[in-house]
Amino acid sequence: MSTKTKTTTSTANPAATWGIGTTCIQAGFTPTVGGPRILPIYQSTTYKYDDLDQVERLFALKEAGYKYTRTGNPTVAGFEQKVTLLEGGVGAVATASGQSAILLAVANLLHAGDHIVAANTLYGGTWVLFAVTLKKLGIEATLVDPELPEKELRKAFRPNTRLLFGETIGNPALGILDFAKFARLARAFDVPFIVDNTLATPFLCKPFKHGAHIVVHSATKYMDGHATSLGGVVIDGGAYNWNNGKFPELVDPDPLYANTSYVKTFKQAAYIAKARAQYLRDFGACLSPFNAFLINLGLETLHLRMPRHSDNALALATFLSKHPRVNWVVYPGLRHHPSHPRIKRYFEREGASGVLTFGLKGNARAFVKALKVAALVVHVGDARTGVLHPATSTHAQLSLHDRLAAGIPDDMIRVSVGIEDAADLIADFDQALRVASKGTSK
Ligand SMILES: *Cc1c(COP(=O)(O)O)cnc(C)c1O
Repeated sequence: MSTKTKTTTSTANPAATWGIGTTCIQAGFTPTVGGPRILPIYQSTTYKYDDLDQVERLFALKEAGYKYTRTGNPTVAGFEQKVTLLEGGVGAVATASGQSAILLAVANLLHAGDHIVAANTLYGGTWVLFAVTLKKLGIEATLVDPELPEKELRKAFRPNTRLLFGETIGNPALGILDFAKFARLARAFDVPFIVDNTLATPFLCKPFKHGAHIVVHSATKYMDGHATSLGGVVIDGGAYNWNNGKFPELVDPDPLYANTSYVKTFKQAAYIAKARAQYLRDFGACLSPFNAFLINLGLETLHLRMPRHSDNALALATFLSKHPRVNWVVYPGLRHHPSHPRIKRYFEREGASGVLTFGLKGNARAFVKALKVAALVVHVGDARTGVLHPATSTHAQLSLHDRLAAGIPDDMIRVSVGIEDAADLIADFDQALRVASKGTSK
């Protein structure tokens, strides 16, 4: 790179051999002698050059460098490189939010007339994007129960299917994806397999090891970890062969960039180079340098926070499952959860992240009002514990019938367990459950 970046490039990077903790803390930025020790905020839209030739090379994708912060910024690049290393990919593009990461990941491959097969256990925002908004743009999605046998799932694929999509930990059923089955389907139909790894994070699961080709995140959740900043990221695993006749845009010359063929020029990183050059450019949903700084700061403690989120969630789930005022508890860290064996198969280590759900015996309004440590919020992945009653919030527009079909009974409370002291959380839930049982019935 001839623009003087102070970030590392992934090829000549000692970070490739680092453990998760060192990567969380130090990857993506190499301090210079007498320079700042931490990744600085480059709050600049603009970059300076010495000659026209260099700018011409940048605009022809013949040289890597920053042109304008919409398509790249040194602070954002530090975050992108850290996440690339954490996931074990070949490159990443940061986005304004998780939603824009998913839109970018999909739009980079699909046109009107193409088709998606996706697990129906998706985050609500992704569900609406696929089932409603992309449909208006001519892209259809078939949403399938990911637990169906492989031969049933095969029926969802069509000649125009161009990608398979799932979440490592589904929301709100909290099932862990059967990666082996999804990877076999992606291979059988020769389509890329995209995984939303938001709830697990690369601390718990690295989907590229289990057959995923592209990974997306809402960095707003555990990466930021402190409920300060929206952000998203798309990571390219570099292993999909785009030269199979299904993705000519990755192979054919792009006339807007001096007839660059992404596959020829960027090789393994063709997908992510195209995402930046075409759709970050056009959609403009870039991550701000300030948010990149905050999310990078959050990532520095990901390896310390995730074990605590998991331990606290397991402690609270265990407590709730024995509580007389609780109808049921769903948490994949509990031994009886049907997905529990997949932790051993697919996760880097013990732990099932911080989200659990339970059925409240009593009045939800009284329960939520009585909480003193946990707060009512529409968010997951914060260091602070939050609860949500989906039937009166995120899923209130659905009829009871549709809510039940989506796996949202009216007694469901979703908890994003934070990193406070487990004993304080248990005491808080215990007293609120007792208050709720005295409240009038729903
Ligand atoms: C929150 C979330 C998203 C959307 O991310 P935003 O940053 O809120 O746009 C996507 N997928 C999952 C699993 C999420 O939890």
